[in-house]
Amino acid sequence: MTRGRPLRVLYAASECAPWVKTGGLADVTAALPAALAALGVDVRVCLPAYRAVRKEVGPAPIRAVLLGADIREAELPSGVKVYLVDAPWFFDREGGPYQDAEGRDWFDNPERFGFFSRVCALLASEDSPLSWRPDILHGHDWQVGLAPAFLRLERTAPALSIQTIHNLAFQGVFASDYVSVLHLPPQAYAVEGVEFYGQLSFLKGGLHFADALTTVSPTYAREIQGDACGFGLQGLLRHRRASLSGIVNGIDDVTWNPETDPLIAAPYGRDRLADKRLNKAALQRQFGLPEEADRPVFGVVSRFAWQKGLDLVVDIAERLVAVPAQLIVLGCGDPALEAAVKDLVRRYPQAIAARIGFDEATAHAIEAGADCFLMPSRFEPCGLNQMYSQRYGTPPIAHATGGLADTITDEGAGVIDKTTGFLFREATASALWAAIARALSWYERPEPWHRIMKNAMSRDFGWTQSATRYRDLYEELLRPVRGPQGVRDDQ
Ligand code: ADP
Repeated sequence: MTRGRPLRVLYAASECAPWVKTGGLADVTAALPAALAALGVDVRVCLPAYRAVRKEVGPAPIRAVLLGADIREAELPSGVKVYLVDAPWFFDREGGPYQDAEGRDWFDNPERFGFFSRVCALLASEDSPLSWRPDILHGHDWQVGLAPAFLRLERTAPALSIQTIHNLAFQGVFASDYVSVLHLPPQAYAVEGVEFYGQLSFLKGGLHFADALTTVSPTYAREIQGDACGFGLQGLLRHRRASLSGIVNGIDDVTWNPETDPLIAAPYGRDRLADKRLNKAALQRQFGLPEEADRPVFGVVSRFAWQKGLDLVVDIAERLVAVPAQLIVLGCGDPALEAAVKDLVRRYPQAIAARIGFDEATAHAIEAGADCFLMPSRFEPCGLNQMYSQRYGTPPIAHATGGLADTITDEGAGVIDKTTGFLFREATASALWAAIARALSWYERPEPWHRIMKNAMSRDFGWTQSATRYRDLYEELLRPVRGPQGVRDDQ
């Protein structure tokens, strides 16, 4: 390192656990900076000062005033420093980070996150009033997609920038009038810029202007360059493929550890596999199903959304009942899927049970108590549950897409030396069923089944590996490049 000081990275994000969380993004923007700090990287997070965050954090000193917003400094439980963008007219209100209490998107989301993007860009340039300036601005998802555009077009001595895609299905597309409302330089509104079919796309701004792009698994990085998963941005992503990489997320392996998990009936581990049965019995009891130790139990914990392929589970449910097996489902979302699941429970009360809702403790109970975990997602950028299930010795049965393909090892018919789960290629009910049948053929034989469970439990899904890959990417990006096409010089 020639800098003579640690590498500095500013994380620009719209959520960060434990202060504000609507999904896995918040876990990443909390855990990854902490893991990078452990590797010697000086990471700070920039986050909107939502009312809920201000309440959680308490009084936080003001370090600067930018574009009318106070920049306050706070610290996450991990010790990672956070700059809170305190713009009360945008962020000090009851409700969620993106929606009001009734679940409607805030009417001024483009202004809110356009402003936030602009502040993040400013903090990552020589125009920043703070003495701490990052070498790299690392933005997450569409909410901060305009930051690389502001950085490139508006700022002096800008930091390099990275845009990470956690789910390409969400892009932040708004009317083109917002280009002037948000003070974007007019030249930004171009095909080679933020324009997307006559509208303004936040995410496209990031994908066009950032120096490097990442997403949350190598397979998803490939898939989003194709028509099926590209959501209209596949052309741009193909064009930028040399700058696009996939790095799998880690999991919180303290919270998700079957040996110490306080939310499960009986702790167990690789060397105490027998105790997993106690969790199975407890789960069957909790859901009012017959406590039959030999009956295979299939678990699902999921948002009920088209993406997650829950309709495929509904399609094969009768065949599961006929095995005979049990099915236990936790989740909520799409009312049609909720109704379909409730209908199954009504028809097969001795074999199928469900809890419609969001419940952390039950999610742990299912991971620990089920024999297999079903995850037939149509697409899955990274996915967490398949990693939890492997850790809990509950082999996942999953569609071979995105992070599922990258984190589950399936050696195919007849071999289980390293197998940790079961993958199927087509997102169809018959392919899902074929994988279930394959899993069941091993399940009937305790010895190979224990081997598969132990293979799964031996996998390391902690954050250190991911953080190391991100650090390498940062270093590579900052390395001076020379040559005929020298994209950067080393001033
Ligand atoms: P996504 O972020 O697309 O929903 P992931 O698998 O990446 O999918 O992460 C989902 C997270 O939310 C997991 O930690 C999962 O256990 C949790 N989860 C989803 N639905 C529920 C639920 N109904 N109750 C409890 N936890 C849930």
